[in-house]
Parts: sequence; structure tokens; C-alpha cells
Amino acid sequence: MIYDVIVVGSGFSAIAVTCNLIEQLPASAKVAVVGDDPGFGRGTAYRTELYLHRLNVPAGRMSLLPHHPDDFVDWLKSHGGQLQAGDFASRGDYGLYVRNTLARLLRKREGRCRVDFIKAKAAGCVERYTSTLAFHLGNGDEIAGRNVVLCLGVGNANLPVDPAGAPPFLRSRIVENPWRLSWLRRVAPSDAVCILGSGLTMIDQVLALRAHGHRGRIDVLSRRGLAPLGHARTPPAPLPIDVHALPATISGLLKILREKSREVADWRSVMDGLRPVTQALWQRLTNEERARFLRHALPWWNIHRHRVAPEVFAGFEKLVSDGTVRFHAGFLRSLEAREGRLVADYRIRAKREIAEIKADWLVNCTGMERAGISHSPLLKEMNRFHLIVPDPLGLGIQVDAASEVTGTSRISPARLFAVGALTAGQFWEITAVPDIRVQAKAVAEEIVRARLKSNA
Ligand SMILES: Cc1cc2nc3c(=O)[nH]c(=O)nc-3n(C[C@H](O)[C@H](O)[C@H](O)COP(=O)(O)OP(=O)(O)OC[C@H]3O[C@@H](n4cnc5c(N)ncnc54)[C@H](O)[C@@H]3O)c2cc1C
Repeated sequence: MIYDVIVVGSGFSAIAVTCNLIEQLPASAKVAVVGDDPGFGRGTAYRTELYLHRLNVPAGRMSLLPHHPDDFVDWLKSHGGQLQAGDFASRGDYGLYVRNTLARLLRKREGRCRVDFIKAKAAGCVERYTSTLAFHLGNGDEIAGRNVVLCLGVGNANLPVDPAGAPPFLRSRIVENPWRLSWLRRVAPSDAVCILGSGLTMIDQVLALRAHGHRGRIDVLSRRGLAPLGHARTPPAPLPIDVHALPATISGLLKILREKSREVADWRSVMDGLRPVTQALWQRLTNEERARFLRHALPWWNIHRHRVAPEVFAGFEKLVSDGTVRFHAGFLRSLEAREGRLVADYRIRAKREIAEIKADWLVNCTGMERAGISHSPLLKEMNRFHLIVPDPLGLGIQVDAASEVTGTSRISPARLFAVGALTAGQFWEITAVPDIRVQAKAVAEEIVRARLKSNA
């Protein structure tokens, strides 16, 4: 069978695209969703069952459907929740909401397009003479579609040192994928833990450790030793920002943003004022300026822009101030086993000195790799066959302003789109729900519009 649309992926982006397609496509259309994750809709972010793993965006901005902005808050209320639009719900509840939204749309059978969910990994892709793109699936099947939307998310970053050749004791003490929470059960309450990386994933793991009864020391090593900041309990109003009045250089931008931050009572109003114009701002920068931003400003951008819920921040700060969590700024050089412990050697930032952290566990929280295609065998193969092209900064794949893949040597008229972090080269801030949901709707609308035109 030839599908009108194949959506590849099983996280939020894939489900957001699918929900919009279900709302808009006629009953004659056929859609396939191919994902290798058993919990369609949850992805890495919303699979957690720990209530303390909160969203880092207030509930009022987390509706899956941008045209129904209160949808998530209403869903919380209808499920007995007491949360308001400005509160931070649990990520597990959000995963349930995403799945429920999809189920609600699928229940309306009358007039709805056909949707097949295929639990499999898309392993390869080829152009077919039938004017389609065909995917080879891990289960041996092949499916073909006239439109394809890639929603593959980002992969996990690898450790900067390769543990493959390490002795078995050392390997058994390295947690390469902390999202498999089963590792927490192996940690004794007094064990010393070294966490590599100091972003949102680190905070998640620290809180999960505490919830599992861990009371030992936690050393956090990252290049700059910077940790995410918190949202204000009463958020200040965003400062209106005219993107056209801003300079198109990173140094000029930083100067103006610092000045504006000094003029307002809370710097968060400047960061929040930037939200609606961030993509437009990014598109005004040359590739050299974008690369400069990634080299020099990215860690500061991340901690100010991707903030944690106020309660999460307060709980984490307590652990820092009582000395349970200690920060180290430097570069991991080697890992070895010494006297029954794991020893991480690192070069202290801006110094030549080497220091060491002794621990019982090392946890890789270097977080999501900024997309790129290296984490995905499918994308690497599509690149080899010129079906996609990496964007100039290596953040993901090259797409145009409508999220359609460009720069390839494809000949078939089948259309190929990407949604989510893979499109960071074009849009930059495209990792969180408030941005992805708008993109998902626009891509679905474009597919529906073109289908209507070709059937006219
Ligand atoms: C811990 C964490 C917390 C977050 N918290 C928030 C938050 O509070 N608010 C917010 O707005 N955003 C948050 N985010 C950002 C989050 O990434 C997005 O909200 C959203 O979940 C991204 O979804 P996605 O579908 O693009 O990617 P993912 O969730 O990564 O999903 C991609 C899916 O594609 C599947 N896949 C990959 N390759 C293939 C293949 N070849 N074949 C088949 N399937 C494949 C994967 O298995 C995966 O299930 C958080 C992210 C993380 C990691």
C-alpha cells in the first residue's frame, strides 16, 4: 500500500504531526506512523514516572494543539488536577495527556483518515519509481509514502572518553544512559556519584537519586560548571522586543541584552521577551555569527533560556548550599579503576592542572546531542544517498522555512519534511513543545493543502 503520509518517530513531534493530520485529512487519506518506542507519544522526555520530574514550561504553554491553547490545562482539570496555567505539571502526566489527545482523535471514526501505527525502526530509505519514498523497516517490511515527516528527535551524547576497552568493574560503574532509571536501584545510599554534564538532565538525576534514598556526595563535572537557573514564582511580564532593532552580531546582541537586563527588575523578562522572536533573530544571523554563538554563548543561553520550575530549583539549590552537590569546571581526560573505586581525571578549566574525582558511579548526563545526524543510522544512510544534507553548522538537516528538506539530489516528487530538533539549523529554538507544536501544525497544513490541490 502507498501511504499519503509516513511519519517517522514516536515522540512528541510525531504525535503532534499525526494529531494535526487526523484533524485535517479526509477519510480517504492513509497515514502510517513508524516508531521504535513502545510508548508512542512519550519519547525520552515524558516517559518518566517520577512525579518530581516536572515540565520546565508552565502548563498554560504546553497544549499540543496551538489552536486550542488551554487544552492541557483543561485536561489536567478533567483528571482531578489542581494545577493552574502558570504551574509546572509532571512530565509523566504530560506524556499521558499526549497519548490521550491522540486516542481522543482516533476514537472519532466517522470521517477520519486511516492511521496505521507500526512499531519498528526505520532502517533505510530509497526513492521508488512510484514517485514515493520507501522505508526499509527493522521488522523486514517496507512501506512507501508520497509525503514523509522525519520526527527523530536527538540522540544521546556519547561520553567524551570511550569506555569500551575499560575493565569490567569500571564499565559496570558507568551509567551511559541514565534514562533507564533501573540504575538507581543499584546505588547504595552512601555511594559517591560523579555526574558528567550540568544541564537539565543532571538536575533530573540528582532529584531521582534523592527520591531513591541516596544521601551520599554528588560531584558534577562540566566544561564550565554552569547549572540551569530557575523560573520566578511570579513571572515578570516579558519585555517587548523589536527584532529588527537588534544588531545581527553576537557581540552586539550580548551588549544590548546585558543593557536591557540592567534596566528591568528581573532579567527573565528580557529572556522571555526574546522567546517569540528567537527564530526570526536566528534567521537574521550569518552562519559565521551562528557559529560564534555556538562557540561562545551557548552555555549561558541554555541556563538562562531553559530554566527549571521554581520548586525544582529551590530543592536543587538546597543540595548545593549544604555541600551534597559540588560543581567542578573542567574537561574529563580519563576514567580508571583504583582501589575498588572509579577515578575521573579532569583538566581544570583555564588551568593546566589536573584534578581527580573519586566516586562509586559515573553518570553520563552530557544530555542531548544538538541533533546532528551522527546518532541516527537512518539519517547517515539517507545522507549517503543524498536524500538529506546536513545543515552548515551540523545541528541537524537542511530545511527551508516551511520545514521541507532542501539541497538534496532527489528526483522523485515525493515530499520530505522534518520536525523538531533536527531543524535547529533553520530555526534554532525548536526543541520544546511551544515551538514544535506550531511547526507540526504548519507541516500538516502544507501536506493537506498540496493533497487537496493535486486532487482538484
Ligand atoms: C528530560 C527532558 C525533559 C524535557 N522537558 C521539556 C519540557 O518540560 N517542556 C518542553 O517543552 N520540552 C521539554 N523537553 C524537550 C523535548 O525534547 C520536546 O518537548 C519533545 O519531547 C521532543 O520530541 P521529539 O518527538 O522531537 O523527540 P523525541 O522525544 O526524542 O522522540 C523521537 C522518537 O523517534 C524515535 N526514532 C528515532 N529514530 C527512529 C527510527 N529510525 N525509526 C523509528 N523511530 C525512531 C525515537 O525512539 C523516539 O521515540 C525535554 C526534553 C528532555 C530530554
